[in-house]
This record gives sequence, structure tokens and C-alpha cells, in this order.
Amino acid sequence: MLVSMNLLVAALELVLPTGCAGCGDTDRRCAAGLCTSCRHALAAAVPIGWQLCRPGGEVLPAFAAAPYEGVVRSILLEYKEHARLGLRPSLAACLLLSVIAALGADAAAAPSVAGTGRPTLLVPVPSAAATRRARGHDPVGALARIVARQLRACALAVEVCAQLRQSRLVADQSGLDIAARRTNLAGAIEVRNPATVRGRRVIVVDDIVTTGVTALEATRALTAADATVSGVAAVAATIRRFPRSQPVSESVDGPQRVRPMHPIVLVRGPPGAD
Ligand SMILES: [Zn+2]
Repeated sequence: MLVSMNLLVAALELVLPTGCAGCGDTDRRCAAGLCTSCRHALAAAVPIGWQLCRPGGEVLPAFAAAPYEGVVRSILLEYKEHARLGLRPSLAACLLLSVIAALGADAAAAPSVAGTGRPTLLVPVPSAAATRRARGHDPVGALARIVARQLRACALAVEVCAQLRQSRLVADQSGLDIAARRTNLAGAIEVRNPATVRGRRVIVVDDIVTTGVTALEATRALTAADATVSGVAAVAATIRRFPRSQPVSESVDGPQRVRPMHPIVLVRGPPGAD
């Protein structure tokens, strides 16, 4: 029933005027679900680069196009939970920024010209099957496919490989602290067919990174299948701001460790992007 409701909402969005997904304004004209003000806010969001700390101390570069707050948070929730599928082009443009940054962070992952080498794989973080059924759509996979298509249109060899799945039931992560999330997810993600990622360069993609625990569990599963994970790319990330006096070198995972690695200088508005 939820599936059909979400699909109905998506269909209505195409034919009826709807409010802005960012601010809820129903008065202003909303092209592709966003008013001009929220569209500008999304475009003006500051990309983030940080490092996730893998077990053993190795770091994994992670990138997000915007902090998960304000308008960006509202847009993502409307897209994921209320199937506002008209928002896909705008959110895919955000994910594209992060993927390009992740490709740039690992020279070995920089994709060859399409057709001349093995493509770098974009691997979406999986949702629980029940969540996927309830939403009635595949939020991250759909964005990843748009991004891969846009990169291939620029003759870059990138493919989506949706081979991750949850191997057991896990508790809802919201409300859990980092240690509990790590325990909850330990060993919970697996690669369906390891042969599809063996020996390949991979970028883990997700819509939102909060603690980084999920992205790191996906990385563990991919590494166990002999893939090389070059980085993590997300639409948005939760930033937990430390007091100034607190060092950033504590052994915690995720965006708590946010520290600017280097400025991400990217040009928005890729061909075909909304
Ligand atoms: Zn708005």
C-alpha cells in the first residue's frame, strides 16, 4: 500500500502544482520541485571533504556536496520519504560533485576514456529491504545511475554496480551512538556476487553520511570481496562541530572528524544536470 501511495504522490507531482521541497512554499513557482530561493541555496552549499578512519588507522577520503541541514535536509527527506522524484536531477547534480571529488582524490580511480579500460564502479549503500519496499523507489541507486550516465556522456568510464545488500536484520540506526551503530552494523553488509567487484576500483555512494559507520561497513564488505575502495561520495553529510579546544585527532569515525583536507573547487552545472 505504501508503495502505491508513494508512486501516486510521484505521479501527482508531475501533473499538479506542488510546494517547494526545500521551504514548503506553495505560492511561488516551483520548477522541478524547488523555488528559486531554494534552488540557489542548494547551488550555493559548500562542499565538504573529510577523512573516515578505517580499522587499522587507514583513512578513506569522503566527500559531500553540502552539510545535511536546512534546505538540503528538507529536500532529501522529501525525495527519500515522500517520493518527490522530480528532485532527482537537482540531487544528482550534488552527488556528481562528490563523485568527481572522490575520483580526483585517487589517481588510480580516475576513469579512463569510456571503452579503453575497466570502469570505476559506483556502489550504492543498500537500504533494508523493508525500507526499500516502503519507499517504493531506490533513492541512492537512481541518483548513482544519473551520475554515471552524465560521466559517461563526458567519455569517462564509470558504471553503477548495485551489489551490496544487508545480510541480516539491523536495528534503526537513528538514536544510536557511534559505538552502538558500529555494533549494530558489524558484518551486516555483503556483496551479492563478489566476482562483480573483484579487482575493481570502487566509490561508495550514499545520500547522507552521518557517523560514517555505514559507509565503512560497506567498505569492509567490498574490501573483503577484493575491491579497492577509493573513497565515499554523498549528497550531504552531518557535521558535528567540535568546540574549538577539542582536538580532531580523536579516534572517532565519521564527520565528527571533519577537517578540511583541501578546498574542493568544482564547477557546478554539468551537461544535462538540472
Ligand atoms: Zn523553497
